[in-house]
Amino acid sequence: MSKAFASQADLQDKKTTFEQLSPHCWAYTAEGDPNSGVIIGDEFIMVSDATATPAMAKDLIRQIRTVSDKPIKYVLLTHYHAVRVLGASAYFAEGATEIIASQGTLELIQERGEQDMKSEMERFPRLFRGADSVPGLTWPTMVIGGGDPTQGEKPGKLSINLGGVVVQIWSPGHGHTRGDTIAWVEDEKVLFSGDLVEYEAGVYTGDAQLEEWPATLEALRALNAEFIVPGRGEAMKGNANVNKALDYTKRWVTTLFQAGKEAVAARMDLKAAMAHTRKSMDPVFGHVFIYEHCLPFDVSRAYDEASGIKNPRIWTAERDMEMWKSLQA
Ligand SMILES: [Zn+2]
Repeated sequence: MSKAFASQADLQDKKTTFEQLSPHCWAYTAEGDPNSGVIIGDEFIMVSDATATPAMAKDLIRQIRTVSDKPIKYVLLTHYHAVRVLGASAYFAEGATEIIASQGTLELIQERGEQDMKSEMERFPRLFRGADSVPGLTWPTMVIGGGDPTQGEKPGKLSINLGGVVVQIWSPGHGHTRGDTIAWVEDEKVLFSGDLVEYEAGVYTGDAQLEEWPATLEALRALNAEFIVPGRGEAMKGNANVNKALDYTKRWVTTLFQAGKEAVAARMDLKAAMAHTRKSMDPVFGHVFIYEHCLPFDVSRAYDEASGIKNPRIWTAERDMEMWKSLQA
């Protein structure tokens, strides 16, 4: 029997949890659906990742309003993916004046934001149930310097004081995309990683830089965080558990890319590469949420990168379907 495309058969709502991790940091998690982070200062609030739609953002705003009435001035986009950014306009009515992203993320929105929006809306009908509330693409108002770590350049760093708590924002290196940005509250050792880190959920790598990703994870490990809000999965507490999430993600990325390199070296076609990759991925990760959705996109990218394609090919709604039919139908 053929598998329903991406997450089209996944229509069961997830339970969201709004949980305090430290004096100023909160995690908004959703049983494997995209997470957001919240940092609440004495004067301002920052949200890290906006949710998929303004309609969906309203639930997060409602939860924030149970603990603070300060303006939600800053919205950080950890990367360009639609499920993370298209809810941003909901925060304008809550005092948002700054949408922060890296130069790499801005470039990706310019290059492929439109196609990504259409593609992700087809992949995730449940998350985009309120898609008519999306006014269009989300554009950053505050862009962090464009240093390219592969060229030995230091990326820009931003420090924002929310009143009683300072948030550092920078790009630790390429990985999930080439615009990944994190938020780090050093005094409380809380890391908001976006999709650079996942835990017990699918790691989507369809737009990734697989070769560079493990080094970026090591840069995050060096922070010695005591808490992490990953892109998907529960918030992890204690340094050993933070490292567990880093190890989980690293194992996914390295296992996948290794299989991709082997497939290319053996001159397999993409369908054979998929079967080859399943041998090492299914036994370890086959049980996690959104695995079957991610795998064909991940194998496609691993195969491309192993073939020398540095800049991930753009996914369109049409390319999504074509790939799915050849690998998952
Ligand atoms: Zn993502």
